[in-house]
Amino acid sequence: MKIIRSVAEAYQFRQSKSIVGLVPTMGAIHAGHLSLIRQAKHDCDIVIVTIFANPMQFSNSEDFASYPNSIDQDLDLLKKEEVDIVFCPSVSEIYPDGFTTSVVVEKFSDLFEGKSRPGHFKGVTTIVTKLLNMFLASKVYFGQKDFQQTFLIKKINVDLNINSEIIILPTIREFDGLPASSRNILLSNNERISAGVLYTALERIKYLTTFDSNSIYKEVKNCIAKEKLVELDYVKIVDPNTFCELLEVNGDTIILIAIKVGDVRLIDNLFIKKVNNRIEIDYRFERYC
Ligand code: AMP
Repeated sequence: MKIIRSVAEAYQFRQSKSIVGLVPTMGAIHAGHLSLIRQAKHDCDIVIVTIFANPMQFSNSEDFASYPNSIDQDLDLLKKEEVDIVFCPSVSEIYPDGFTTSVVVEKFSDLFEGKSRPGHFKGVTTIVTKLLNMFLASKVYFGQKDFQQTFLIKKINVDLNINSEIIILPTIREFDGLPASSRNILLSNNERISAGVLYTALERIKYLTTFDSNSIYKEVKNCIAKEKLVELDYVKIVDPNTFCELLEVNGDTIILIAIKVGDVRLIDNLFIKKVNNRIEIDYRFERYC
């Protein structure tokens, strides 16, 4: 496994005749990242994992400084997975003096997660555009857990003619359904137990017999309200094609949710579908996944 740190070294893969797979991460490697890496290993000749905690996607009020950093452990894990290249640039390598350009996906960056985290997606789409351009990889892997992020990345890939294949893989969950996340280790024991409600609240939707958004909101909100350590930020029922909010579940639907547990912000989502007058959860629609 080779570790590279400079943009100049990244450029060498642009001319590669092999199938290059790219897995962008912010480090603190967990089971969710590993599932992307294993799929990339299966699909590609050369697998490149990037580790870069991107300051541009954190606001002043968010604690970039406390974002988990476990680089030595990460490198051990990646070596075991037989990753070919790890790109770990410094902040000044990515944003040298004089850097002034950013990439914004108009209309969709300020919705939902973007509304709660102003400027967040501008940071995400800027760094992902830079990484996509640097490597020009054939295939690039992302997790469904960050569904709005995947929607925006697919937009930049098309709108800016990057033309990589963007592959979205299912959310990997811990024992109680909570999505694996680098942030989970920041939770205290009691907070971690309470955080399980993120998935159980979504799961409850399958017992509903009415399919309007109000019934869904009410069910999820009531479930979250029982956990004193958890604060609901938003729950949204959305058409995954248009990113418009829906009044009822009919066709393709995704439910997006964000909570705060102490200082830790957690997100999740589920595809849902109406089947035989019931809601089926975690339905995977072919064209999104
Ligand atoms: P991050 O390091 O949090 O920026 O995540 C890097 C990539 O891993 C992103 O594409 C995430 O969507 C993906 N990812 C994070 N958590 C999970 C998970 N629990 N399951 C699958 N993919 C994930």
